[in-house]
Amino acid sequence: VIKEESRNDFQLFKHSLKKGFKERLRLETELHKAIKEDNFELHFQPQYDLQSNEITGFEALCRWNHEEMGYIPPDRFIPLAEKTGLILEIGDWVIYEACRQNKLWQNEGLEKVKVSVNLSAKQFLQRNLVERVSEILEETGLESKYLELEITESIAMSNERYIIDTLKEFRELGVQVALDDFGTGYSSLKYLSQFPLSKIKIDRTFIQNQNKQNIAIVKTIIHLSHALNLKVIAEGVENEKDLTFLVNERCDEVQGFYFSKPLPANEVLGFVNV
Ligand code: C2E
Ligand code: MG
Ligand code: MG
Ligand code: MG
Repeated sequence: VIKEESRNDFQLFKHSLKKGFKERLRLETELHKAIKEDNFELHFQPQYDLQSNEITGFEALCRWNHEEMGYIPPDRFIPLAEKTGLILEIGDWVIYEACRQNKLWQNEGLEKVKVSVNLSAKQFLQRNLVERVSEILEETGLESKYLELEITESIAMSNERYIIDTLKEFRELGVQVALDDFGTGYSSLKYLSQFPLSKIKIDRTFIQNQNKQNIAIVKTIIHLSHALNLKVIAEGVENEKDLTFLVNERCDEVQGFYFSKPLPANEVLGFVNV
């Protein structure tokens, strides 16, 4: 009986493995197709300065607009895109499209607003990235100070010297770099002082679950950022209570559903009343 059961377990296991593999293969094939057919879209979520109460920027968030499945969120395809290397092509498109879109808004009267673009670790470690970004700025006509790149602590797993040099090159170019999802990765505090960054983004898990520990962590990240001359933004602000807490703690900027969901590009000007 035991034998029979374990054999069934194995069949089940094999079956689900096969299914998972097929599923992945299918998604990968579709991802290739999506790149060729230009099926990605950017949505934009506003970021607010808590002193001026003004929008300082929009984070560009990638969506895959699938003809049958509708919008596929990035968490479902970015990891696969990273594994297969397709992220380089998708990411290049994202930077270009974000810059192009921001320049268009500027021409329509939405001025002095940054666009933030998420970079995967693989993308950041691409040898020609700074050159490519500079080329994109030139081609789209966007000034470098209106572009911000968001990296995560996952890049810290690679060559420290290379990271610092790359960040310095971005600083010289005038492009700002924020450290996204701060507090969830492996990075040491040493990096915070050594990496030439402009901003820290506190991960939304610390905002959304305001227990004693997380409150202490958020306060500490804000104080630490300021002591290191970095701006600090909180993600995942969903209600008045979250906001009040962050205002009281002197957080610089906020972003979250309380203000707006990520918006399709054609809704942005209406949203800001331009
Ligand atoms: P992220 O960069 O940390 O982006 C913030 C995510 O939090 C977005 O999810 C946004 O919609 C969501 N969010 C914003 N405010 C709230 C809130 O108040 N409550 C809750 N529950 N969620 C909120 P999204 O768009 O699904 O993106 C997920 C992640 O996918 C991003 O996290 C980023 O790591 C990655 N991603 C998105 N677009 C790109 C891209 O173009 N390139 C790369 N490499 N990664 C991307
Ligand atoms: Mg981000
Ligand atoms: Mg984040
Ligand atoms: Mg994230």
